[in-house]
Amino acid sequence: MSRAADPGGPAEAPGRSPVVLITGANRGLGRALVQAFAAAGAQVLAACRTPQATTFADDGGRVRALPLDMGDPASIEGLAAALAGQPLDILVNNAGIRGAMGGIDTLTPADFAEVMAVNALGPLILTRALRPNLMAGRHRTVAMISSSSGSMTEGLDDDGDYAYRASKAALNILTLKLGYDFPDLTCLLFHPGWVATEMGGPEATIDADTAAAGLAGLILSATPEDSGSFRRWNGEPMGW
Ligand code: NDP
Repeated sequence: MSRAADPGGPAEAPGRSPVVLITGANRGLGRALVQAFAAAGAQVLAACRTPQATTFADDGGRVRALPLDMGDPASIEGLAAALAGQPLDILVNNAGIRGAMGGIDTLTPADFAEVMAVNALGPLILTRALRPNLMAGRHRTVAMISSSSGSMTEGLDDDGDYAYRASKAALNILTLKLGYDFPDLTCLLFHPGWVATEMGGPEATIDADTAAAGLAGLILSATPEDSGSFRRWNGEPMGW
């Protein structure tokens, strides 16, 4: 039996909609994920840096915006405190930055540290902070939006730079370690494709809604056996 259907978890309202928290929810892939999960019937907690400026008018009342800066551990702890005691089914760590481009000659320690903080450390400590909420939920799933740029075997010819690549490779091993340490959590890694967002640019090969629909389907249907997998938005395996 999949953990998503496991009746042995903590008591909660039978048949309630899954509760999904998405970071970086105000634009790009994150916003498309909000819409995809809401369309699938989920209750969505849309975490972003500027929730007061963010409207989710087309969500059918299923979306609640919350403040979160992934580069600020105090903000992460504040979000967890605000959600204390509330079951959470799925956490999607989507927020990310690419950092300065320009190669080895323009790399700066400050930029490298910021990219690592937002893309790798942030998802790790947010997952730690929300683990009690996830353990009180049914799916107990953490999905990390990684990248082919974090792969050791694929994507060296794309334009991810040193800090970005290091941060996504770090996210990958951190996610595997979380899955190893906490077998009750289903820990998933995804490459979303080359997505037409501010980060992906206009020449990208897939639109955000298509990538988000694929990812949401994979995340909602994930089972514990999927933990530790690294897949593309359409379910194809990614090389590590
Ligand atoms: P965008 O640049 O279009 O959007 C990035 C999102 O992350 C925004 O919502 C932004 O919020 C948020 N964000 C950035 N920094 C922080 C922070 N400190 N705290 C909270 N939120 C933050 O990128 P995409 O939508 O394309 O990327 C989403 C994810 O997909 C990222 O993890 C990215 O690495 C990954 N990815 C994207 C690819 C692509 O082709 N687009 C390819 C491979 C992976 P704000 O508006 O406040 O800046």
